[in-house]
Amino acid sequence: MKIAMLARNANLYTHQRLKSAAEERGHELDIINTLRCYMNIASRRPEVYYNGEKLTGYDAVIPRIGASVTYYGTAVLRQFEMMGVFPLNESVAIGRSRDKLRSMQLLARDGIGLPVTTFAHDPKQTDEVLKLAGGAPLVIKLLEGTQGIGVVLADSDRSATSVIEAFRGVKVNILVQEFIKEAGGTDIRALVVGGKVVAAMQRTGAEGDFRSNLHRGGSAKPIKISPEERSTAIRAAKAMGLNVCGVDMLRANHGPVVMEVNSSPGLEGVEKATGIDIAGKIIEFLEKKAKPGKTKTKGK
Ligand code: ADP
Ligand code: GLU
Repeated sequence: MKIAMLARNANLYTHQRLKSAAEERGHELDIINTLRCYMNIASRRPEVYYNGEKLTGYDAVIPRIGASVTYYGTAVLRQFEMMGVFPLNESVAIGRSRDKLRSMQLLARDGIGLPVTTFAHDPKQTDEVLKLAGGAPLVIKLLEGTQGIGVVLADSDRSATSVIEAFRGVKVNILVQEFIKEAGGTDIRALVVGGKVVAAMQRTGAEGDFRSNLHRGGSAKPIKISPEERSTAIRAAKAMGLNVCGVDMLRANHGPVVMEVNSSPGLEGVEKATGIDIAGKIIEFLEKKAKPGKTKTKGK
């Protein structure tokens, strides 16, 4: 196969691992800087150019599109899809995953366990939103946040109100969520590839932090997940339409709840914690599925 990987930084662990996993299996993988692609959106003749050359002959495209370049990145990916190149994850599914409210609505529609989550646009509704979420302690999250930045725990309704007012003052969108205390500062990330959980790790936050993000000083170890957790992760991936994703779950008293589905999961933490060759499993998925013209939505 000839594979294109859309990424900005060729040297990241995940990108290097995917490249060597492809090459070990006899494929060619070109890392293409997403933001340097340019396109010709002519009727019935979609093209992508890079460094003065038209990109042709690819069997598959691996999008590694960072949250900050979602808009342009998914446009480039959509162009590949219109050319009939098989995407590891489709542009439409990546777009869904980057919108937290949309993602939660899709998961809720399929009956997947979620923390009680409320949101409102109008600051006059703050008191109601706090009540709906069950009152303090509450977790307040920036909709545009990643890596645990902009996730705040408020112990009392009063502090929740001031956090909400502060966020509103700087005109950012937020959601308010019940605090799953029993998760004890840990969460589970399950890596789904082609409808199967191929690896799972438990992340534990730095001492005293309720957030378990590795970027915030957390640590990871392999974990055996329950059948319910496994099926929750698989159903979440399916609801989002993602072939490959990281499903972040909390162990609540009433079962697993999904916090987030990440469409560009980093492989370093989970491969190092579990010793599983996830990059290889991703390339094997493409070997089976990447047939010309088999892209589902073609950006629709
Ligand atoms: P980000 O997308 O920025 O990583 P998350 O929503 O995943 O933000 O939250 C970061 C961390 O905070 C999670 O990994 C989890 O450990 C903790 N956390 C988030 N939401 C809750 C919640 N409702 N209850 C308990 N802990 C939470
Ligand atoms: N790079 C990922 C993204 O922008 C986030 C990394 C992770 O938490 O896996 O979606």
